[in-house]
Amino acid sequence: MYSINVENITFTYPAHKGKKLSSHFSLDKILLSLTAGTFLSIVGPNGSGKSTLLKIISKILLPDSGKVKIFEKDYSTIPRKDLAKKIAFVPQTQPLAFPFTVYEIVLMGRSPYLQGFGFENIEDKNIAQDAMKKTDIQHLSSRYINELSGGEIQRVFLARALAQQAPILLLDEPNTHLDLQHQIEILTLIKKLVTNDGISVVAVFHDLNIASMFSDEILILNFGKVHAVGKTASVVNKKNIEEVFRTDVIIDTHPVITSPRVTLIPDFKNKIN
Ligand code: ADP
Ligand code: MG
Repeated sequence: MYSINVENITFTYPAHKGKKLSSHFSLDKILLSLTAGTFLSIVGPNGSGKSTLLKIISKILLPDSGKVKIFEKDYSTIPRKDLAKKIAFVPQTQPLAFPFTVYEIVLMGRSPYLQGFGFENIEDKNIAQDAMKKTDIQHLSSRYINELSGGEIQRVFLARALAQQAPILLLDEPNTHLDLQHQIEILTLIKKLVTNDGISVVAVFHDLNIASMFSDEILILNFGKVHAVGKTASVVNKKNIEEVFRTDVIIDTHPVITSPRVTLIPDFKNKIN
């Protein structure tokens, strides 16, 4: 069963439509299929369209042409509340205009399930508590979101997404602000959701080694086009990485697991001064 099919989508931001800008950006005929229970990472240089693609898959932005199917159903026919039971999205940056507490934000993950007057029941509250436990934020429960560190905020929004209990999890750079311990803990938790519970994950990463260690499949985006997509071991090779990231690398194998390892080569002698 496919959880996500992206079928030949194209997209240009409305502000750029019909203009010939030097910085013109479009997603061009993106094709992608994800089987349920798969961890896919999207990597690519700044501005290559990673966040835009995730926003299209989550229906925050609509494609200009082409289709997105969620569990083999065209998502333009799925009402928002139903789609929110299928897809949880953690964006790259969070609007923090209102001073909600951590617990209130995590509980918002239950909103697609609320009936009638919209009060959370005991089950919703237990699910929110469980999500806070898994992301190690229980001790922050009554703190205000605007008084937390970047890494703590990131874990709060991940907890909200977990509380949503959706079979598809979209994560835009979920580890950027996390310290090493929390990176490993959170990514291991996400990996377990994939292998044990059959959740589908699409995550954007900057760190190629993190992407390589945790994902089954990798999609490399470059200037709005798919440069390569497939199993991690076949996509993370010297040719692909050097072409797209325009820097020399050595690719070998992680010393403990079998994933490809990417090492940067600093050229101090020639490049400094
Ligand atoms: P990435 O996540 O790969 O760094 P993005 O998807 O955020 O890249 O952005 C891709 C391109 O689209 C960039 O050139 C960016 O400046 C542009 N862009 C992003 N958001 C908007 C917007 N709301 N309106 C116009 N252009 C945008
Ligand atoms: Mg981005």
